[in-house]
Amino acid sequence: MTTSNTTAKPESPLLGRGRGEASYFSIQELTASATALREGIDNRPSKCAYHLLHVLVDQLLDPIREAWGEPIVISSGYRCKQLNALVGGVKNSHHILGCAADIIAGNRTDHRKLFKMIQKMQQEGRIKFTQLIWEGDGRWIHISYVPGNLKCQVIE
Ligand SMILES: [Zn+2]
Repeated sequence: MTTSNTTAKPESPLLGRGRGEASYFSIQELTASATALREGIDNRPSKCAYHLLHVLVDQLLDPIREAWGEPIVISSGYRCKQLNALVGGVKNSHHILGCAADIIAGNRTDHRKLFKMIQKMQQEGRIKFTQLIWEGDGRWIHISYVPGNLKCQVIE
């Protein structure tokens, strides 16, 4: 967990998107895992997962962070199969693909506001997602972007 999006946008694009546009989120934030570190698991994404993490940032995380205007912390992004199993993720989790992130932006009340804001952005056609899930009794929000499967499913 890092706080690289707590201040202004970074000067240079951490994700190397090649559009001369900085991102709020780094690949490090999206792959960091205390559990992986502790258990000695190599959680570096495959080429494909790496690409999909970029898509997730471009299509969802950056637009949401921009609209929110406050720091958003990634509590869990990419998980290799081994890590996913260890943290109790479901077998076909979008986290394994590099298509999902669990985000934290304060307390439960903040998360309710953020959840509503994301729904509103979708209703206004500003973003599309695969799933938006109110998880852990509102301790975090799960959001995913699986290209080709943007069903905009909301689970509360
Ligand atoms: Zn999740």
